Amino acid sequence: MRLILLGPPGAGKGTQAKMLKEKFQIPQISTGDILRQAVKDNTELGVRAKTFMDVGQLVPDDVVIGLIKERIRQRDCKTGFILDGFPRNIAQAEKLSETLADMRVVIDNIIDLEVDEREVIERLTGRSTCLDCGAMFHQISCPPKVLGVCDGCGGKLAQRPDDNRETIRERLKVYLGSTAPLKEFYMKQGNLKTVKAKGSVEDIFFRLCEMIE
Ligand code: ADP
Ligand code: ZN
Repeated sequence: MRLILLGPPGAGKGTQAKMLKEKFQIPQISTGDILRQAVKDNTELGVRAKTFMDVGQLVPDDVVIGLIKERIRQRDCKTGFILDGFPRNIAQAEKLSETLADMRVVIDNIIDLEVDEREVIERLTGRSTCLDCGAMFHQISCPPKVLGVCDGCGGKLAQRPDDNRETIRERLKVYLGSTAPLKEFYMKQGNLKTVKAKGSVEDIFFRLCEMIE
């Protein structure tokens, strides 16, 4: 099963991708996670990517396309994968199509998680992530039992540096200008599905699975 999750920042792509990964036993490939790891490791890639991520801009296409090409050719992607956060613009989508054609594989499901802008801003501003296991919490909708501590592993929770109002606004702008047009791109190819991404994480997951099966 090969899947692409589309949707604005804060739509819940990461959360749902993690659940799908467990259910279907296929890797979740998040360009955001890969880049954040590179930033953490202070690699050359990380240093370059950080300047874009901190201000809510897209990291240059050649960088992320290179990452994805290498990643989807790895062994664990043979039976499938979930793309979360890639492609992010038409150029990336075109390169992805080429790569998949080369590999003689197709994407089974392209799903757009639909959520309105106000909700997105609310979700992102209250969000915190476990530095150790990546679990996500929210001040209001899903607070941790102990402030600043992960329920799952006891790790420390932190806000993503790009989850501040100014950067969120820029990420939304970039989404509308560059990423949202992918909906039409894939719709024209006749394989876009839409899932309402409002409600509880479980409800959304249920709707998503119904769409897939
Ligand atoms: P979100 O979807 O919540 O904005 P991500 O974790 O997907 O968060 O991405 C965080 C940042 O990483 C983006 O703002 C961007 O700078 C960079 N990034 C992630 N994926 C891509 C991509 N496919 N192309 C370019 N930049 C990317
Ligand atoms: Zn944790």
